[in-house]
Amino acid sequence: MKTGIVIQSTGSNYLVKSNDKVFNCVIRGKLRLKGYKSTNPVAVGDVVDFDVLDSEISVIKKIHQRKNCVIRKSTNLSKVSHILAANLDQAIFIFTLRKPETTTVFLDRFLVAAEAYNIPSIIIFNKSDIYSKEEYPEIAEIMATYSDIGYQVELCSVKTGFNLEQIKDLFTNKISVLAGHSGVGKSSLINALNPEFNLKISEISNAHQSGKHTTTFARMLELPFGGFVVDTPGIRGFGIVDLKKEEIYHYYPEIFKFSHNCKYQNCIHINEPECAVKNAVEKGEIAWYRYKSYLNIVLDENEKHRIKEI
Ligand code: GDP
Ligand code: ZN
Repeated sequence: MKTGIVIQSTGSNYLVKSNDKVFNCVIRGKLRLKGYKSTNPVAVGDVVDFDVLDSEISVIKKIHQRKNCVIRKSTNLSKVSHILAANLDQAIFIFTLRKPETTTVFLDRFLVAAEAYNIPSIIIFNKSDIYSKEEYPEIAEIMATYSDIGYQVELCSVKTGFNLEQIKDLFTNKISVLAGHSGVGKSSLINALNPEFNLKISEISNAHQSGKHTTTFARMLELPFGGFVVDTPGIRGFGIVDLKKEEIYHYYPEIFKFSHNCKYQNCIHINEPECAVKNAVEKGEIAWYRYKSYLNIVLDENEKHRIKEI
């Protein structure tokens, strides 16, 4: 029996990496996970035990317990979900002030989803080369706000290479997923991490996606300096996360901290009297735009507090 990590999945076959060798694996019988009703019991990022039958094929026998996983609910089969990836160490969100514009509301919705999935987030502010003297203080202010909350923030330019060594360190020996609007520089960054990837990324995943409704091609790109970037259709936005209205503030670390001092235990920090959160917003101890995005999610009845796809 060997142990390895699933680096690619087509739904029926899995590539499993173990001690620098890659094994082609299948699942036999009913390999079910406790607590999950899933169309795919094994996902990229899973650590598995497997038996090598011959040089061609190996059989996955056991899936190790996951520290987290990102799930996509199937639209046609209720309660059945698809696991997009497992055991993510971090979600790296790429923010650009313009080209394209990223709003903090959009960023916050992503951060809430990541917190709900129990995946730590890092925010990279890319395209530092395009900002004017007037825009720099704005970027600096947003960076300071998120840094104070506890998120790691980095400024860089994939184009000029500014701060890229630091960014590489972030990815080293971690399983990461990249997120952010189209055009912020995700593919460029992946290519900068390993020029050999060379934008084949989207071609390959699209080819495998087409014509297959029940299977999703998923893979992790291995970085030459150690670590993986998950490249799975649909994972960049984390899809939809259903949250209860009363629990949303738990995923805003600084709002959660202040909430302990609210008069009412069930305070959701909207109209309640003696609300420590609203007080902190008035005093500037919580950034007004964080509170605004919080309201934006809580008051969005139609969406059922869902986090939209990117
Ligand atoms: P993705 O959609 O997030 O994968 O974004 P891409 O990697 O395709 O990049 C979108 C565009 O932004 C491309 O034209 C890149 O060359 C450009 N781009 C990426 N990073 C930077 C940067 O740091 N500065 C500038 N000026 N352009 C960048
Ligand atoms: Zn309150």
